[in-house]
Parts: sequence; C-alpha cells; structure tokens
Amino acid sequence: MGTPRESTQAQAETVVDRLKEEYPDSTISLRYSNRLELLIAVILSAQCTDERVNEETADLFEKYDGPEDYANAPQDELAEDLNSITYYNSKAEYIRNSCQTILEDHDGEVPDTMAELTELSGVGRKTANVVLQHGHDIVEGVVVDTHVQRLSRRLGLTEEKRPERIEEALIDIVPEEHWQQFTHLCIDHGRAVCTARNPDCDGCVLADICPSERGDSEVDLASGEPW
Ligand code: SF4
Repeated sequence: MGTPRESTQAQAETVVDRLKEEYPDSTISLRYSNRLELLIAVILSAQCTDERVNEETADLFEKYDGPEDYANAPQDELAEDLNSITYYNSKAEYIRNSCQTILEDHDGEVPDTMAELTELSGVGRKTANVVLQHGHDIVEGVVVDTHVQRLSRRLGLTEEKRPERIEEALIDIVPEEHWQQFTHLCIDHGRAVCTARNPDCDGCVLADICPSERGDSEVDLASGEPW
C-alpha cells in the first residue's frame, strides 16, 4: 500500500505529473475528421471499445456525409450499418434523432454549449464534454469514463461513486489546465497497467502513493472489495 500525498489536490497533481511522463502523447483514440463525426463516434463508444468503433466508422463515414444523410436514413439501414457495435439499434435511433435536431434547431451545425448538446438524443454530460473539448476547444469539465471512475477511487482522489459526483470532485482538485488531459492519462494507464481485474501494481509508477496498491493493501478502493 502506498502513502497518498497530504491532500487530494497534491495527490491529483502528482498523479498528473507522473502519468504525463509515462504517456506524453496521450490523447483521444476515436477517429473523426469533423465535429459531427466526433459526436457520432462518441455516441457509438458508450459501452463499446474505441477500436471497434473506429473499425465501424471507417465505412460509416464514407457512406454518410452530413446530418441530412443520417437524419434521412431508414432506421433499419443505419442500424444494419452499425451492427458490430453494442446497442446498435438504440444508437442508430439516437444518431438519427440528434441529426434531425441539429438540422432543425442548429442550422446543421453541432452545437457548442453543454445545455444544447445534452438536449440531443443519447447525449449525456460525458459525451457533451468530449465534443466540447475536442470539437470546440471548450473545456468545461472532466470526462469521467469507466477508467477515470476506477482510477480516481483507487488512488484515493474521491470516494464518490456516480460519474457526475466524481466529476465535481475532480474539478475541485485537478488543476484546470489538466482537466482534458487527466481523462486521457487515466484511460492510457487504465488500459496499460491499472486494469479493472488485474492491475500490475509492481510495474506502476503510482505504487508508492496509491492506497489501493496490492503489495499490502487488502482492499481495492475502486470497488471497496478485497483484492
Ligand atoms: S496499478 Fe496498482 S498501484 Fe497502480 S494505480 Fe492501479 S491499484 Fe494503484
């Protein structure tokens, strides 16, 4: 078990510093070439791997060009075009409805406010944050996905469980200039080292400050359960 820094702010800063050294090129792994493609890729990525989404969107973005194409596509055809993605039927419907709203209310452009984005079908705060950050260069919050959720709790940055509450906690302790990068660093470390089932604590650059470190901590603070 590592010894966390004296405050959660100091802990967060050390986590960012060390992970930035480990993953200097950390960034979003979804592929897109404009804001609409970004929005669609993020909607598709819910409970699905980025690799799978990238495979599927390679063809999708060739076939569909602009919100009209998606809004006018028959539900069955769009769903079929997404059929390797989890929940493809629902996601096809979200995309068609979102594109309809984008055409009717936003002159065919992906909106650039949290309020307008979260009114789109299938778009929650997490998706909206990603679109704002990477599509509009607006950083309003911290994207909390499953990796951010797990690592923040394991590292003692928060005891909150719900993503919205975790985001509020992180906004208070992660320096604002790192809000965007914090997510990508957690995702890279969560994939490479601090995996859900079998984290490699021996090979982890955060082991000396991590209260969940498996050497002699008996509890995974992410779940609250024994290792
Ligand atoms: S790999 Fe182990 S030491 Fe590193 S952050 Fe995860 S639980 Fe902590």
